[in-house]
Amino acid sequence: MRQKLSVAGSVENDRNHFGAALHSELVTTSSKTLLLVPGSAEVAQSPVVLSVPHAGILVPDIDAPLLALSGRGLLKDADLHVDRLAQRVPALGVPVVVAQISRYVLDVNRAPDDVDREVCPEIERPARPSARGLCWRTTTDGAPVLVRPLTLLELRSRLQRIHEPYHQTLAELLAERRQRFGYAVLLDVHSMPSLGRPGHTDPGARRADVVPGDLRGTSCSPLLSKLVADHFAAAGLSVRANDPYMGGYVTRQHGRPARGVHALQIELNRDLYMDENSFALVDDKAAAVTALLTGLVEKVKGLQLPS
Ligand SMILES: [Zn+2]
Repeated sequence: MRQKLSVAGSVENDRNHFGAALHSELVTTSSKTLLLVPGSAEVAQSPVVLSVPHAGILVPDIDAPLLALSGRGLLKDADLHVDRLAQRVPALGVPVVVAQISRYVLDVNRAPDDVDREVCPEIERPARPSARGLCWRTTTDGAPVLVRPLTLLELRSRLQRIHEPYHQTLAELLAERRQRFGYAVLLDVHSMPSLGRPGHTDPGARRADVVPGDLRGTSCSPLLSKLVADHFAAAGLSVRANDPYMGGYVTRQHGRPARGVHALQIELNRDLYMDENSFALVDDKAAAVTALLTGLVEKVKGLQLPS
């Protein structure tokens, strides 16, 4: 079944940051809710995979009628432009996986069972407040996301179309690299508002420039956490590991350092590269962050980690 996707707002033209034609990549089969940009075949492959789970702002037509938000309303909690910051990474031989769908529809950085009864009353488990779980109920500013609760069928459809392909793709890429190199590295790249919002754990607080999250030292080798922190600190940026974000489902699900899969979440402060009010990229600042991220991936490629 083919499925149409609507672009929210006027953020994009007809090509994405990786140079692929948007429409050929995105108006596609119902399972294709992600963009996989393979690492360049012209350079040596490496154990590294990059994931960008929250930059997407597309809404599948099938899900649009249930969404209380549209246009600019879809942008505020997206990690806007992070896919663009990663645009030079494939040239290093490192594949980049980008979720295309808005996290309001389905957040691939949440566990499949992170759903409460207010989001899906048919769920057979005790109600627990999960306003920003698998399918968001309210934005970080408290605005409603859903027009009405989801049926179990609608919830399962979203899982199948959006969540499963994303994690299966990551798992396959990581398994291939682990087999070839003895270990694999997943860098899960996000961006965060410069100040905590009402729905966050740190309302009003000023965040560091970069927050590496390794689930408090459990999702990857400390060598990787240290390399990432040192890389950004050497560029004069403030770095605060695991505060306020220590890693989400992507990190938790794929990070198995004892089995040679090292996963680290990297949160970049939006103030480093964009105007948080207009949502516009600030070109010179973004160029600097793009270079920093590319340089980081290059360094991680050269790091020998436990298998
Ligand atoms: Zn994010």
